[in-house]
Amino acid sequence: MSRYGMVINISRCNGCYNCFLACRDEYCWNDFPPYSASQPDSGHFWMRIIERERGKYPKVKVAYTAVPCMHCEEPLCMKAAQDGAIYKRPDGIVIIDPKKSAGQKGLVSACPYRVIYWNEEKQIPQKCTFCAHLLDQGWKEPRCVEACPTGALTFGDLDDADSEVAQWMASGKTEVLHPEYGMKEKVVYIGLPKRFIAGSVVLGDTDECGEGAKVALEGEGEERVVQADNYGDFEFEGLKTDKGYIVKVEQKGYKAYRAEVKTKSDVYLGDILLTRMSRGRKKKN
Ligand code: SF4
Ligand code: SF4
Repeated sequence: MSRYGMVINISRCNGCYNCFLACRDEYCWNDFPPYSASQPDSGHFWMRIIERERGKYPKVKVAYTAVPCMHCEEPLCMKAAQDGAIYKRPDGIVIIDPKKSAGQKGLVSACPYRVIYWNEEKQIPQKCTFCAHLLDQGWKEPRCVEACPTGALTFGDLDDADSEVAQWMASGKTEVLHPEYGMKEKVVYIGLPKRFIAGSVVLGDTDECGEGAKVALEGEGEERVVQADNYGDFEFEGLKTDKGYIVKVEQKGYKAYRAEVKTKSDVYLGDILLTRMSRGRKKKN
């Protein structure tokens, strides 16, 4: 028996919403008993895309995080459900029974991820089913995964060591969106946005970009070195939040620059003007 899971690679997601639209196309006006009743045509986001702006002008980045139901091994929603209205299939998919859950509006707030939505017309709570009805027909992946044009979504059997999802899990590069909830989520992420430190190196005497300048970062047990690009820009991604780092910039013939930086938020150091080293005076005879 498979144990299904999903890996979401944030660095590949461009926020196109194809996954969300495929979900709506599958579930609006379509009942798939015993797993789901039709989704209303507005107000539900079984695959929600969270857009987060990072940094400040002129260094702004946008991160898109796709958030479906996490199909947790230990789901709080299931504990809160009455009369077995939420259950886990042998393959790990968490299902809200559309009949047994009728009237249980409290289930909407039982999920800390807030991925359960209330269907006002039908008076039932609803959420992503990993397209259980399609998997039962032999599909290898849900509609959202099939629709994703960038390969940001990977679906498969976590217990099959050869599957891509199992290999990602074993790589140690995946993480849960909210580990503090402690629900053993089976949807995990790669490249969740953390903090960045960026800047632009400028040669103070010529006003030219400091292309090729060596930029080193130290702190929190990390040491990284990059070279400023042809615009003099550099960036360190994936840093810890609210921690201290030291940034050093070196360019031959110029005085070194050093800054202590705290990552309370994403940091753009702006233009870093390097001053030329004095060549020293000639000795008089
Ligand atoms: S993410 Fe929420 S709705 Fe989905 S299984 Fe976990 S607790 Fe339940
Ligand atoms: S379809 Fe893929 S790239 Fe588009 S928003 Fe969804 S996860 Fe991101």
